[in-house]
Amino acid sequence: MLELHLGPMTVCPTILYDKDSMVLADTGMPGSAPAIRELIRQAGVGEIPLSSIILTHQDIDHIGGLPEFVPVEGQAPIVYAHKDDADAINGTEPMLKVTPERLASFLQPLPETVRMLFERTFLHPLRPNVDRLLADGETLPIAGGLTVIHTPGHTPGHVCLYHQPSKTLIAGDAMLAMDGKLKGPNPSATPHMEQALQSLKKLIAFDIETVICYHGGRIQGDVTNQIAALAGQL
Ligand SMILES: [Zn+2]
Repeated sequence: MLELHLGPMTVCPTILYDKDSMVLADTGMPGSAPAIRELIRQAGVGEIPLSSIILTHQDIDHIGGLPEFVPVEGQAPIVYAHKDDADAINGTEPMLKVTPERLASFLQPLPETVRMLFERTFLHPLRPNVDRLLADGETLPIAGGLTVIHTPGHTPGHVCLYHQPSKTLIAGDAMLAMDGKLKGPNPSATPHMEQALQSLKKLIAFDIETVICYHGGRIQGDVTNQIAALAGQL
């Protein structure tokens, strides 16, 4: 888990790696890539090539850094996302929650090269940004086995990722961590709260010891009971 400070907000992209390859789950805001690379370097794994990027969903604080991780030439990481968010990530459909005005306010302070790269990637794309669609229940042969759990509600194509060897759930924005406890997703950013809580029920079936929330970080211990309690709020 990386802790990326974006002004007042801290977000937690996650890396999974072995000696040959690295996977990054979520990419921060537009312009975040250099800071994420620096965190990876500080973690002592800066030499391992980034082979894949998994986007848990289409929100700007998760996909914003993507353009700078995808070189125009040379070996690019494989980008994964669920089909129900892929159109927004590919720029063939507007992003669900970010108005053009709000997007402009995020991009305006950035260096022109970053801004142009962002616009070329998401607003006037020449090619799809998503290379591979994720399906509910599939296990990717990544880092010893990474199972995709489709958890719609926060966005239609939101996924959580379950890393089998470490019994870790990468929750994206399906839940928040606050005061050492799991909470339901942020109501103001979750258009379909009932569906989002329904999605949490799917997580109960997994043997989870650690949850990494993109907002709030790591929670360990009786996480399955906490998730069941949240899902029970229906
Ligand atoms: Zn988020």
